[in-house]
Amino acid sequence: MLTDSSVNITIMKTSKHILLFLSLFLSVAIFSCDKEDSGDETPIDNSDQTRRRGLVAKYSVAGNNITLIQSGPASKGFFNESRQKEFWSFFTSIIPAEARSVMKELELFADPEDGTAAYVAPLDQNNLSVWEMGHNLDFVWDNNNQFVKAESAYTSIHEVAHLLTLDHTQVDVNGNNCGTFHTGEGCSNSGSYINQFFSRFWGDIYQENQQIGQDDLEGYAAFYRKYRDRFVSEYAATNPGEDIAESFATYVVGDVPTGNSVASQKIRFFDSFQELVALKQKIKANINFDVNLNNIRGVRSQRFMAQKGGKANL
Ligand SMILES: [Zn+2]
Repeated sequence: MLTDSSVNITIMKTSKHILLFLSLFLSVAIFSCDKEDSGDETPIDNSDQTRRRGLVAKYSVAGNNITLIQSGPASKGFFNESRQKEFWSFFTSIIPAEARSVMKELELFADPEDGTAAYVAPLDQNNLSVWEMGHNLDFVWDNNNQFVKAESAYTSIHEVAHLLTLDHTQVDVNGNNCGTFHTGEGCSNSGSYINQFFSRFWGDIYQENQQIGQDDLEGYAAFYRKYRDRFVSEYAATNPGEDIAESFATYVVGDVPTGNSVASQKIRFFDSFQELVALKQKIKANINFDVNLNNIRGVRSQRFMAQKGGKANL
């Protein structure tokens, strides 16, 4: 996703989203509860193509199946049920089920001005085996109402990378006196992907990175410029968690880099793990459209800037 300086911000942002959507939902629910209670399936009104903002829908997830938990105010009009299903069908066609086994909820929302394209967050802060993933459908469909496949695939892979590097097999929520990388959710296992990645690539710059204030966009921009050859994108320079997710998404959709830059080494890092090599091959085989990494980076970068207030001059 596009969030977080350390995962803390993801959590804060997520809570903020949930609060926002919850209040939007509640205010609408009050006026539409008689309809909800009727139990009838509301037919999709295809004449209404209005793109509304707020919560679209929340689903529980079991493998490739989703079950509606709640509908939001933005589920009427353009982001109707058939489009929600279209997104899910795209997502599941790209990401193999075994790579998202901890994903138990899906939140679809719509907000063209939010820099967040997607996010993940644990459903229970004490149990990293259950996660929700959110996707901003305003970035899945462009301004011409066309499905944006390449970027949506990249974003989905980025989010799945968070799950793979932050779940209960990788991170211990109860880890005290953490001697390894602390992800925000917990203490990473010494052999975890993220701790190995951190030890190898972040040891000498982490302190400097952590001194940048959460909203100090110019600070992040300067940090990225200073260490440009270490990162696959400017968003990657936000923190180690975003760095590994961006590097993995680049690893999956891009070509194998031959150079010796730290950024290239980060991409090749994943080749040391058989299961990740296999996952890359599966995902790649599922992508039957062009993916232009430079375009994707440009769009995501702009959005990141917009999210932080547009103060940067990148
Ligand atoms: Zn992310």
